[in-house]
Amino acid sequence: MSDETYSGSCFCGSIKYTATGPVRYLCLCHCESCRRAAGAPFVAWGSVDVDNFEITAGSMSIHESSPGVCRGFCKQCGCSLTYSNKQREKDIDFTLASLEDPTVLAPTAQIYVVDKISWIETNPDLPQYPTVPGAEDNDSI
Ligand SMILES: [Zn+2]
Ligand SMILES: [Zn+2]
Repeated sequence: MSDETYSGSCFCGSIKYTATGPVRYLCLCHCESCRRAAGAPFVAWGSVDVDNFEITAGSMSIHESSPGVCRGFCKQCGCSLTYSNKQREKDIDFTLASLEDPTVLAPTAQIYVVDKISWIETNPDLPQYPTVPGAEDNDSI
């Protein structure tokens, strides 16, 4: 795990951020909330310490999508940027697809596969979890 710094931005470029590793929980999330927030079939996320995430230009808008869950996005272009959850208050997740180079961090698991759209084919080598690793229904499927 390195302490490399990753840079990203929204579609219109008004919001820029940096996230400094180690990056945890690299995943594809198939949950309905991510799907609706992004208007996409799934969302790729990575997570860093909230202290290691910095908005370097512009200002994010926040949508509280569930109690204690805040999704950061650009109100000009609609790009989904971050996810934070009071239950994991030391973490902030950011969308891997908003990185300047989205190839530098690759998901290592798929979560909330119970919500996966039937026409989605994703990398079969990635472990799949019905919800999240460590949950009651933890058996990888
Ligand atoms: Zn934007
Ligand atoms: Zn999700």
